[in-house]
Amino acid sequence: MDDPDILIVGGGPAGAAAAIILAHSGRGVVLVEREPAPREKVCGEFLGADAIQCLRALGVDPAALGGAPIAEASIARRGGGEARMALPFLAFGLPRAIMDAALLDAATAAGATILRGQAVRDAARVPGGWSLRLAEGTLLQAPHLILATGKHGLRALPRATAAEGWTGAKLHLTLRAPLSAVTLLPFAGGYAGLQPSAGDEANLCAALAPGQAAAARDAAGFLALVASGSGLAGTLLEGAEPRMARPLTIAGVPYGFLHRDPVGADPDVWRVGDQFAVIPSFLGDGMAMALAGGMAAASSILAGQSATAFHAAWRRRLATPMRIAHVASHVLRRRPDLFAGVIAHAPSMARQIVRRTRVRLPA
Ligand SMILES: Cc1cc2nc3c(=O)[nH]c(=O)nc-3n(C[C@H](O)[C@H](O)[C@H](O)COP(=O)(O)OP(=O)(O)OC[C@H]3O[C@@H](n4cnc5c(N)ncnc54)[C@H](O)[C@@H]3O)c2cc1C
Repeated sequence: MDDPDILIVGGGPAGAAAAIILAHSGRGVVLVEREPAPREKVCGEFLGADAIQCLRALGVDPAALGGAPIAEASIARRGGGEARMALPFLAFGLPRAIMDAALLDAATAAGATILRGQAVRDAARVPGGWSLRLAEGTLLQAPHLILATGKHGLRALPRATAAEGWTGAKLHLTLRAPLSAVTLLPFAGGYAGLQPSAGDEANLCAALAPGQAAAARDAAGFLALVASGSGLAGTLLEGAEPRMARPLTIAGVPYGFLHRDPVGADPDVWRVGDQFAVIPSFLGDGMAMALAGGMAAASSILAGQSATAFHAAWRRRLATPMRIAHVASHVLRRRPDLFAGVIAHAPSMARQIVRRTRVRLPA
């Protein structure tokens, strides 16, 4: 911890991935995470092929952690029934509390210092690098700073946000019948994903359009909202037992945000994960982007590149998945039956769209 090379703010997948690679390479890493213990986060928990590949490269195996395998995707039709297709890869559903804890354990094992339960309050440019002030007053200093704080940034280094962002909501449930597919459930004012989670639980997670957040204040209201969208949702959610006191929510989600450095951006501040890009939920691979971005930023630091060069290259890499996911989310919201029609009648085109919204790592 004395004189670290790199400070990382945030211990989600992006920050943890960067910490593992850097610490493995012998660099002095201090990662600060404000949550004292693993906790659930608003997330559909869907791990696609790229996320799984990154996790395994980082020493974390979703199957060994009890993740639920998912081989199919389905979407409810407004008029009744559903359209199903085989996924082009085997996916997993894994609670975030389990996955994030395993990643931070791997970072500790690699030699990183993890400061848990400590929030970074401020960041300042100092000669030779960056200084962080923690909530209880400690000051940390290093030549490089990785910002991995997720959807909300540090006051000193703000990130563009949507004036009227979407709200994410999540509820763990037990369903009356077991579920095997990731199932998209559109409803007026948003859409949800329902999929198996670890153990006998399922995860219901929704993206709520601006103005719809109040519907997710309690479990009954949230379930009623999603169930109202389709006959399939009503059937799947009938008799569902919430396993959380109330839905977790996060406001101000700026779907479509893709970071671009302003002229004169600091060459020593790396943005990764949701600090760099926020892809529409269930239509892209937020966790793969976070994991792969953290790993790529670490490689960039090890190669002696600047953050601005990394940001420009990473932006080019993500531009196509972001564009396609944006169009797909528009169709899902406005014309859910057209979306279902593509899955039912042109499954190879649907699989191609799924592939084109991934980060696409080299095999
Ligand atoms: C509704 C919804 C559904 C989604 N579903 C999926 C899905 O099914 N599959 C998928 O791949 N992606 C999904 N995503 C996206 C995915 O959750 C994110 O892309 C991913 O969590 C980003 O990881 P991250 O490490 O950037 O941020 P986070 O996971 O948010 O981690 C950031 C960390 O920083 C910490 N932190 C923040 N501020 C400070 C501070 N000041 N000091 C110290 N620590 C701090 C936080 O406590 C947190 O642990 C979904 C997102 C939403 C909103």
